[in-house]
Amino acid sequence: MAAGLSRRGFMAGIVAAAAAAACSSGSDRVAPTSTAWPATSGSPPTSAGISPPSTDPGPDLPLDVFTLGVASGDPLPDSVILWTRLAPDPLHGGGMPDAEVPVVWEVARDPSFATLVASGVATASPTFAHSVHVDAKGLEPGTRYHYRFTAGLQRSPVGIARTAPAAGAEVDRLRFLFASCQDWTDGYWTAWPHAADEQPDLILFLGDYIYESGVGDPGAVRKHNSDEVVTLGDYRNRYALYKGDPGLQRAHAVAPWVLTWDDHEVENNYAGESPQDPHDGVDFAQRRAAAYQAFYEHQAIRVRPPDQGHDEIYRTIDWGGLARFHVLDGRQYRSDQPCQGVADLARDCSARHAAGATMLGAAQEQWLGRQFASSKAAWNVIANQVIFTPLPLGGVFFNMDQWDGYPEARTRLLGQIAATKLSNPVFVTGDIHASGVADVSDAGPDDPVVATELVGTSISSSFPTELAALAGPVISAVPHVKWFDALHRGYVACDVTQDQMAVRYRLMATTARPTSDVSTATSWVIRSGTPGAQRV
Ligand code: FE
Ligand code: CA
Repeated sequence: MAAGLSRRGFMAGIVAAAAAAACSSGSDRVAPTSTAWPATSGSPPTSAGISPPSTDPGPDLPLDVFTLGVASGDPLPDSVILWTRLAPDPLHGGGMPDAEVPVVWEVARDPSFATLVASGVATASPTFAHSVHVDAKGLEPGTRYHYRFTAGLQRSPVGIARTAPAAGAEVDRLRFLFASCQDWTDGYWTAWPHAADEQPDLILFLGDYIYESGVGDPGAVRKHNSDEVVTLGDYRNRYALYKGDPGLQRAHAVAPWVLTWDDHEVENNYAGESPQDPHDGVDFAQRRAAAYQAFYEHQAIRVRPPDQGHDEIYRTIDWGGLARFHVLDGRQYRSDQPCQGVADLARDCSARHAAGATMLGAAQEQWLGRQFASSKAAWNVIANQVIFTPLPLGGVFFNMDQWDGYPEARTRLLGQIAATKLSNPVFVTGDIHASGVADVSDAGPDDPVVATELVGTSISSSFPTELAALAGPVISAVPHVKWFDALHRGYVACDVTQDQMAVRYRLMATTARPTSDVSTATSWVIRSGTPGAQRV
């Protein structure tokens, strides 16, 4: 990136000066400026803080490269991941020239970027669909920042990021939201603008960020015209369709996210290296690798790029001494669903108890035990894909895609919670497009309550209406299930203090129209030291 006295070096100075001079003018385009300084003479002095970097301007860019918004994620006390992707033609491969493009990133305390606290130049490479992942380091703990990107003369929207509190720090309160399952065809994402309005510290996303299916359903609320996605190009275009939603972009821009995936980021109900439906001419290992790469390319996530079709995304995020988030990957390493019947439900069979059956895989299980053992946090939030609570339907039917399909693995995890005397374990779960609150215990009727499970409904993915009316009474009748609702979409808001976690189920009036009212359908509190949520 060193700039000489060449024309390009001079151009670099113009770009950097433009980046520095144009601020919150309301325009996303940087106006050319006459106050450029030669790149070789260093940067102009700023009143405080650091100077914006100078950069090679790279190739000429098409207009509107920042169509997919910006995002931050996976905060540490001194850094946070910043993301964007340059995609002037988002639904058709992105539309970028086949060349690397330098992208200036800047972090400031103030929304006008008068004083930069960190900045640099990242490379948007065609290898990763011109996505940019910056680990913005050297930040202060527990601090709110603004960030933005500049490519050529174009400027991204401004996002708000936040660092985690210092390790072990006393933290008064934390507001996190969690959500999952946003099938674009099933409805409008009326929840996201309301979620953004909550000004959360963190947003957890528990899987099914995209759906892989073709438009298929003639009853789709929103129609697109692409088939089921299987190639890297397909998955990129699908992410771009989803990432184009302005409400989703707003939710990404207001707070750092912590994401995991479930099945639909690849294919419904896949398990490890086993597809649900083998496709003619499609190698599942290649398909999964493509899907994992597209996931990486489109999220502000602190992981290495996928390698050889694997991507280790399980990780913990600490929020001072108040909370540790244990982010699980229940897809990549699991053994195949047992006792397969029609759809997810099947009658119990011996395979459900097979030795070697696993949800997390041995390495992740051991890692989780270590994270439990080393946690000093008051609250331990287990960010999980699928329902953990035993839910025998009619006593003999189980959803084999959930932890009920892997009961020995569930018992092992409960054993780790007990052995480490884990403080205030709370499972937050996506998966079934319905809301629920449950006391967590093992499958025996006399097993003690050891944790709490909060199941959040979908952002838009449907729960079949006919089934919803039936499922309500059946699931509500399961021991340990305290509340269940399959009729509404939405998200869950959690306000955490040392003493309690207050939980609001924020449910939408509708997802059939672009906007909707939201209301708190029910509120719960989990008191420190007492597993299980109480209705308030
Ligand atoms: Fe889903
Ligand atoms: Ca599924």
